[in-house]
Amino acid sequence: METVSVVPQPDVQQPRGSGAGKAAEDDGGGGKGSVDGEAMSGNPYAGLVSRLRATWLSGKTRPMEYRVAQLEALGRFLDEKKQDILEATALDMGKPPFEAEFSEILLCKNELNETFNNLSHWMKDEHVDKNLVTRLDSVFIRKDPYGVVLIIAPWNYPIHLLLVPLIGAIAAGNCVIIKPSETAKNTERLVAEMLSCYLDNDCFAVVTAGVQETTRLLENKFDYIFYTGSPSVGRIVMAAAAKHLTPVTLELGGKNPCYVSDTCDVQNVARRVAWGRFFNTGQTCVAPDYVLCSAEMQKKLLPALREAITDFYGPNPRESPNFGRIVGDKQFQRLLMLLRSGRVVIGGQTDEEEHYIAPTVLVDLQTSDPIMQEEIFGPILPIIIVANMDEAIDFINSHERPLVVYAFSSNDKVVNQVLERTSSGGFCGNDTLMHVTLTSLPFGGIGNSGLGMYHGKFTFDTFTHHRGCLHRGMGREALNALRYPPYSQQKLQIVRAASEVKRKGACTLL
Ligand code: NAD
Repeated sequence: METVSVVPQPDVQQPRGSGAGKAAEDDGGGGKGSVDGEAMSGNPYAGLVSRLRATWLSGKTRPMEYRVAQLEALGRFLDEKKQDILEATALDMGKPPFEAEFSEILLCKNELNETFNNLSHWMKDEHVDKNLVTRLDSVFIRKDPYGVVLIIAPWNYPIHLLLVPLIGAIAAGNCVIIKPSETAKNTERLVAEMLSCYLDNDCFAVVTAGVQETTRLLENKFDYIFYTGSPSVGRIVMAAAAKHLTPVTLELGGKNPCYVSDTCDVQNVARRVAWGRFFNTGQTCVAPDYVLCSAEMQKKLLPALREAITDFYGPNPRESPNFGRIVGDKQFQRLLMLLRSGRVVIGGQTDEEEHYIAPTVLVDLQTSDPIMQEEIFGPILPIIIVANMDEAIDFINSHERPLVVYAFSSNDKVVNQVLERTSSGGFCGNDTLMHVTLTSLPFGGIGNSGLGMYHGKFTFDTFTHHRGCLHRGMGREALNALRYPPYSQQKLQIVRAASEVKRKGACTLL
């Protein structure tokens, strides 16, 4: 895997490869494997994309042994650079080592092992049902790689959200460009400098790029784009992909509602909600964004939340090794502005120099308050009062469809009602975040929270084109004659009888 970093050029009509990093200059976008005139476009990344496409066309990434060897190298990166990863994520956002090891390393290793355990099975041609007409043919789904894939990641889980899709893209046999977030600077540097030493430079490249450079990168034709980030940038990525009719997965964000019914174990709810909200300092796309509950439940929940926060982070969370920091100044200032909504009942302390915001709970909110208008993405939990479950469901359904809906109740019927009557990317009853840790569940959004899904086999399938194939022998032409002109009513009856899909249980007498 090579690293390419491009200094944007004022004049886009630069000579090919101009301004690009060394690897891009070396091949200069020269004709080798050039498709769709990429190398002629003057785009600083055109040479790289066209070189990866040439490698992909050579078939190098197709054999299973090659894919497994690259995935094993990726596993070695995670093992050997574990300490570097913990240090980089600590420098970027004060990520506690426990949280980094669990979310960045363990979950990636789970994805890897799930892939090792199943890849040969996933890759196999899938033989499917046939009818009389095709009985003698070979009919199957071929698991084809897409080709050259682009993965763009955000900063909040800067290893996990880059490597989990990369694992699936490699497993599926693609060549890949990964673009880490420039906001998590230390992790970006680590990935650019070190991951490159583990993976095959012919097939995989890291591009370090900010907004301007990513805009240029997106001008190129990719065969698949996997984007994780905000819905607003998701729209930009999808528009760029549309120019080339490139398929996309968009893993986006939004506001995840958390309904707490009147019948529940309040202490348990408080601990599970506080953990989900304040994990990674609230900078989690699937964090519960706000609580919906009755006024009576709010009265019970507030002391329980206070107790949970003190149990987790001690009397002064600022001194806790288990509580992180906001990633940058821009993100910190945005959260300060959101803190002006409602009334602080727990926390509320901030420190600009350290980018510290205490675990905070807000009450007395209006739905028109700024904090209810955008995804919070920080350690602030507003509570919105609703009369009952029906009102909570109406509230959820009157907003954009979220990445996840949470529902807490000792009564399973209540949890099931919330599940039945709402729509979201995923759902988690009586806990937070845990649904994301399973490789067996698809993870992804719906509507404003995204498009497509991944994790486990779903990641492999995301980066795989399911190619429908029929392979017929050269002989038995007499059988085919039935479908050739000159047509007749008799031929049609035979063709219909031999190829018709009948509805099961349908009464043929009527
Ligand atoms: P972001 O959208 O600002 O940036 C994500 C990536 O897009 C970065 O690599 C960035 O360099 C690139 N980018 C930014 N602006 C761009 C532009 N104009 N053109 C092209 N590329 C551009 O998001 P972020 O601040 O890094 O992450 C926060 C958002 O991501 C939140 O909305 C969060 O919910 C969402 N998120 C979603 C998931 C998920 O799995 N669904 C996971 C983590 C974060």
